[in-house]
Amino acid sequence: MTCHRCKTEMKAEKIPVYHYKESGLDNVRLEGVTLLKCERGHKLIHIPHIEMLHDAIAYNTLKKPPLLTAQEFRFLRKWIGLTMNELAHELAVSRGTIHRCEKKGEITRPYDHLLRMLVAKKKESSCQRQMYLEIAMHEVFEKMVKRHLKSAKMTIDVEKLPQHPSQASRQPQSQYAGL
Ligand SMILES: [Zn+2]
Repeated sequence: MTCHRCKTEMKAEKIPVYHYKESGLDNVRLEGVTLLKCERGHKLIHIPHIEMLHDAIAYNTLKKPPLLTAQEFRFLRKWIGLTMNELAHELAVSRGTIHRCEKKGEITRPYDHLLRMLVAKKKESSCQRQMYLEIAMHEVFEKMVKRHLKSAKMTIDVEKLPQHPSQASRQPQSQYAGL
């Protein structure tokens, strides 16, 4: 692959553990991520199966026992593709309420549950797919969920994310994030 900025060849290098800050969550670490670097030091991160990865993060966030943190609330809102205004409308609350949840972490039990139910409804097929995959994912998930921690550390090996049968024939989804 050539660098999109200086057109020189890029070298690939595996990163043992990548802190996936782009997710907006502090607690997600990825294994199996590739760093591409050109001679002039431009960097690109390659994360395979990005859609499945976000599904896995969201699903684990949905089923964690403690209340959602501000970061998790925001991640789930974005995962279902809603703006803060749209979410406020869906939940019949003010935009200020959503703002307080996401910026100040003032998430009470009712708002936590409302969002989780809305997400489960809007992403029913993704959640079902994740449940279906859970047996195959057992090893991956085992590392991810530690109960009773407010925000459990997740380490996900992106190369081990299984493909759903309906996706097996498609090209693997990837994302390049410029650094
Ligand atoms: Zn370059």
